[in-house]
Amino acid sequence: MLAGFLHCRDAVKKSTLSSQHRALLDQVQAVYAELAQRPLERSCIGRSTCCHFSLTGKTPYLTRGEALLAARAWRASGRKSLPASTPDGACPFLKNNRCQIYDARPFGCRTHFCEAAGGPAARAEVRDLIQRLEDIDRALGGEGGINLPTAVQAWM
Ligand code: SF4
Repeated sequence: MLAGFLHCRDAVKKSTLSSQHRALLDQVQAVYAELAQRPLERSCIGRSTCCHFSLTGKTPYLTRGEALLAARAWRASGRKSLPASTPDGACPFLKNNRCQIYDARPFGCRTHFCEAAGGPAARAEVRDLIQRLEDIDRALGGEGGINLPTAVQAWM
């Protein structure tokens, strides 16, 4: 299991993912695309309040596919590591109050809307999508959600 993880992490660094891993990441993106098609009420205007984990007391938990996708997006912009620390306990992907990996942001960032944006999506509305992400997680050797900074750091 560890050898597989290390091999995959190196592949992320070198952008040489296997076709199997690429297919699994395509499935994660398909989940995100399907979510975007659902008529969930939201009114996010990018306040980025939810990106300040120490203020909200909530940190998104990522399955392995979500973490891998986020790390790949981060690396695609030439960055090789996450910031060692962030002001106000903010997400490491937040800069000038903007998400630096917005198209690859994790599922929780898309569904756990802050109160001003309408509150979180009801689990029943997205349960099937969560199950698909969990299936992908297992296929990638993951063992369930991990908090965002730790989950992404594993792929740096
Ligand atoms: S990944 Fe982007 S949207 Fe999600 S908490 Fe971090 S900065 Fe905010």
